[in-house]
Amino acid sequence: VKPENGCTWPPAMSADSVATWEGAERIIQTALDTFGRIDCVVNNAAVLRDTIFHKIIARQIPANIVYEDEHLIAFRDISPQAPVHVLFVPKVTIPTLNDVQPGQAEIVGRLVIAAADYAKTQGFAEDGYRIVMNCNDHGGQTVFQIHLHLLAGAPLGRFG
Ligand code: AMP
Repeated sequence: VKPENGCTWPPAMSADSVATWEGAERIIQTALDTFGRIDCVVNNAAVLRDTIFHKIIARQIPANIVYEDEHLIAFRDISPQAPVHVLFVPKVTIPTLNDVQPGQAEIVGRLVIAAADYAKTQGFAEDGYRIVMNCNDHGGQTVFQIHLHLLAGAPLGRFG
């Protein structure tokens, strides 16, 4: 659990203090009523791990969405690094690649297949593209909900 990647409810209380506050059931119900969901429960505190991508999924902030299904959403990167730069994000909360569980292989696989499908439907599959997933500090990850970058639209130069 990485509370620094999200927040506990009620705000400004540590998970430990919440446990002795009013009773876990009421706290969790309040969080559910307020936010519509909780991501996990730690020491009887409801923990929400909202990132900017969760807010895009929930339509709380706008994005240029190019694809969505029940499992994932894809939208244009706000700061494109290539003529085509689309992010593919699962709807299940997974902060980093280190948090992917063995039973979640399909979630990651769906991101890859959705990106390849997008490349085919947009007509640049044959020319080619690059997919990138960053993890933590050294990987340059800045949003702590896993996502796959699809970069295309021009020769991207050698990498790796
Ligand atoms: P990473 O550095 O791998 O975590 O990638 C995060 C990406 O999200 C960066 O390329 C950002 O430009 C992009 N990004 C951040 N905020 C938004 C947003 N509101 N809409 C679209 N893309 C965003």
